Amino acid sequence: MKSRLLPGMIVLTAALVLLWTVPLVYALEEVLMDSTTATAELGWTIHPAQGWEEVSGYDENMNTIRTYQVCNVFESSQNNWIRTKFIRRRGAQRIHVQIKFSVRDCSSIPNVPGSCKETFNLYYYEADADTATRMNPAWMENPWVKVDTIAADESFSQVDLGGRIMKINSEVRSFGPVSKNGFYLAFQDYGACMSIIAVRVFYRKCPRVVLNGAVFSETLSGAESASLVAARGVCVPNGEEVDVPIKLYCNGDGEWMVPIGRCMCKAGYEAAANGTECTACPSGSFKAAQGDHSCLSCPLNSRTSSQGATTCLCRSGYYRTDAEGPASRCTTVPTAPQNVISMVNETSLRLEWSPPVDSGGRDDVVYNIICKSCGSGRSGCTRCGDNVQFVPRQLGLSSIHVEIQAVNGVSDQSPYSPHYTAVNITTNQAAPSAVSIIHQVNRSPSSITLSWSQPDQPNGVILDYELQYYEKNQAEWNSSVSRSQTNTALIRGLKPGTIYVFQVRARTVAGFGRFSGKMYFQTMTEASPWDEIYIDPFTYEDPNEAVREFAKEIDIACVKIEQVIGAGEFGEVCSGNLRQPGKREILVAIKTLKAGYTERQRRDFLSEASIMGQFDHPNIIHLEGVVTKSSPVMIITEFMENGSLDSFLRQNDGQFTVIQLVGMLRGIAAGMKYLCEMNYVHRDLAARNILVNSNLVCKVSDFGCPASWRTTPLIPPTPALWWVLSGLLHVFVSEQIFILMFVSQGGKIPIRWTAPEAIQYRKFTSSSDCWSYGIVMWEVMSYGERPYWDMSNQDVINAIEQDYRLPPPMDCPSALHQLMLDCWQKDRNNRPKFNQIVNTLDKMIRNPGTLKAMTPLSSSVHLPLLDRSTPDFSSFTSVDEWLDAIKMGQYKENFANEGFSSFNTVSQMTMEDILRVGVTLAGHQKKILNSIQTMRAQMNQITSVEV
Ligand code: AMP
Repeated sequence: MKSRLLPGMIVLTAALVLLWTVPLVYALEEVLMDSTTATAELGWTIHPAQGWEEVSGYDENMNTIRTYQVCNVFESSQNNWIRTKFIRRRGAQRIHVQIKFSVRDCSSIPNVPGSCKETFNLYYYEADADTATRMNPAWMENPWVKVDTIAADESFSQVDLGGRIMKINSEVRSFGPVSKNGFYLAFQDYGACMSIIAVRVFYRKCPRVVLNGAVFSETLSGAESASLVAARGVCVPNGEEVDVPIKLYCNGDGEWMVPIGRCMCKAGYEAAANGTECTACPSGSFKAAQGDHSCLSCPLNSRTSSQGATTCLCRSGYYRTDAEGPASRCTTVPTAPQNVISMVNETSLRLEWSPPVDSGGRDDVVYNIICKSCGSGRSGCTRCGDNVQFVPRQLGLSSIHVEIQAVNGVSDQSPYSPHYTAVNITTNQAAPSAVSIIHQVNRSPSSITLSWSQPDQPNGVILDYELQYYEKNQAEWNSSVSRSQTNTALIRGLKPGTIYVFQVRARTVAGFGRFSGKMYFQTMTEASPWDEIYIDPFTYEDPNEAVREFAKEIDIACVKIEQVIGAGEFGEVCSGNLRQPGKREILVAIKTLKAGYTERQRRDFLSEASIMGQFDHPNIIHLEGVVTKSSPVMIITEFMENGSLDSFLRQNDGQFTVIQLVGMLRGIAAGMKYLCEMNYVHRDLAARNILVNSNLVCKVSDFGCPASWRTTPLIPPTPALWWVLSGLLHVFVSEQIFILMFVSQGGKIPIRWTAPEAIQYRKFTSSSDCWSYGIVMWEVMSYGERPYWDMSNQDVINAIEQDYRLPPPMDCPSALHQLMLDCWQKDRNNRPKFNQIVNTLDKMIRNPGTLKAMTPLSSSVHLPLLDRSTPDFSSFTSVDEWLDAIKMGQYKENFANEGFSSFNTVSQMTMEDILRVGVTLAGHQKKILNSIQTMRAQMNQITSVEV
């Protein structure tokens, strides 16, 4: 096929080949001539006359049609032409001819000459008008233009011109470009037996189409099948071209292809009907820009006034900033700031406020402060200076007026001035005074509930409190803040087992008052959430805070001192009455701090109250409170009628049953168990530090452990090094220096009551308290005997080191002595825990039979026992001396008066004799009787030796 370039055609580049092969819209065919529609004769021109002839026949559907046929196969040199009428071109550049025909197979014709053909030729001839005649144009190629030689696909062997049996070929041939007004077609037969059944002449065009948002009108195809005719599209109404002019190409076969550019609906319109229309945005919606996207509903607080909106207008009172586009919601100005608090401090004013209730729907709220100074008279208010520094006193003004405006990004668009909150502040208005004390109400591993008293001088209505807190070992600037409308607060989200520092301040319209002093509270540990853990007041930066936290301040007016009952480390101990409002009067003990104390003494004195105040147990002395705001400073506790246990026992020697004594021991053990659970190590457990009330209830007291005990020892706390040093000391230095060393380390260690590891390297634990408890047991069972009698401290240390232990006191059940020995195990881990001691004692009380057995002199005890309980009478020069040794010195006179002045007479004494000398107390009778029996045994030994 020829390919000639004509204006308006393009040659496809390789890149477009793919597109080109895919038509977008298929072709329309426009018929120029159709032989089958002719009802009368076709009237085509035949040359020569004996060639083609026009006949009526039938098509394949048995419709009557006009056909031409020729069959001069037996005659040589055939050249039969037939020419159509003039066919108008009607703008077409390329013409298509569809020919339906049949050709007889030459071989099927008997005796046919070799000149028989099975093909024919198609020609065309262009002319501007129908000027052809019989002989013009001449019947030959050139002037005619040959289109093609056409052969039948299927020839048929039997021609039945009556139309019964027909095999019809259909071929289409195209030619172009054509440019004259019209043309003729001619069919040349040169020796075939054939018929032309139908001829249809047409051209192709691309149909009107709406594609990519544009309308393309009907476009005639190009002159060649490979040529493309560019067509400009026109955007559908309210559509607009994007970037490049929109185009489609119509190919030679009348097919649209190669789209270029596109149209999109303009602002205010959206695509509809499959992209073939742009319809206006419905009211209440908008489309801000050209594009494929749909219309959007109007943003909050905006609306449209008609369809096809490109933006929605803000409702009245609502605005957008210049920077905000039509998709942004409309916002309004903020309401006034709230809760303005002013704090006047001499020449400066501090303001605080809460954000407005309504920010106007924006997050760019800022605040303007307008300051006006107001005279005291009627002069009104004038704006403060530009530098906002305002010194009321210099100007002689008594008050100022402050307005706090909340403004946001749209405030400048509002015709109204910003909402504001105004405060009139009298510059000398006072803030509330400081909260004096905070109490812990409750706590858990992650929270602490606190309460506090109202400031003494609120100076107005307290609006709320601000609580500031931080971990004790963290920087203060890391603190958190919590607000409370009442004088209690629950602070959550704390770390377990952690000490926090708390401060609280009150707020009135005049502003915040001063913060309270720092108070320390500890959350519970996670491991034992049910446990209360004792807090060492010395961990507080200011131990006074601990006092404030744990000890209630008692008004001195509630305290009535009766009499002095003892002397404490820091001053007199008195008994008295405490009558607090709303409570019944109770007996109390009042420990006083003597005048002229140092700050350190005051701190150490009150530390006992801070410790005691943390405890709450029937076997721990109960703190009523402290008096620190008047002099003398006092610690007030419950009154214990029988005073300290050691002297009480001495005064009542031998007068209690074993069960009563075990009951006392049980109470002490229960108190110690509680202290142990509170993580508190007593360090000075001894009968002198146990108080006894009128019901014989024993309570652990004396928590005033000197602070110096708690300091790091001078000697490194490694047992090995200690033993090296103590060994050297043993060898080279005297006992005095040894004891002095303990003193120089600070604190007097009660050697006789203290476990060896606590003496040696200050390993004070609940297990060292257990050792001391064993000593207390011994003290109790011996009615206040001094442990280790008159042995020196160094002898005690040496004896213990050599595994000697105290023997059972007189009449001490072996089970109790065994318990003492358990408490004195060298390895502290082998000592019983206080809960085990309580259980053991409880069992004894329930089964008094277990207390019957008395320890024989050589028992199953594996440790060697010191033996000083039954002194050798031969070492005494007189009966008086002997009575002193067995602590029965009070009966010396009675013995002498009744004639019992020699060991001989005494050794003969019967129970009646003992009664006669006036020993009426059962315990004393027993003790004297026991000692007499020992005396007799020793006398017998001596006698037998003598014998
Ligand atoms: P302290 O300073 O605790 O050793 O007390 C000294 C003395 O005062 C004690 O030995 C007791 O005799 C007496 N005492 C201390 N507290 C009380 C109390 N609560 N009830 C009765 N007497 C007490």
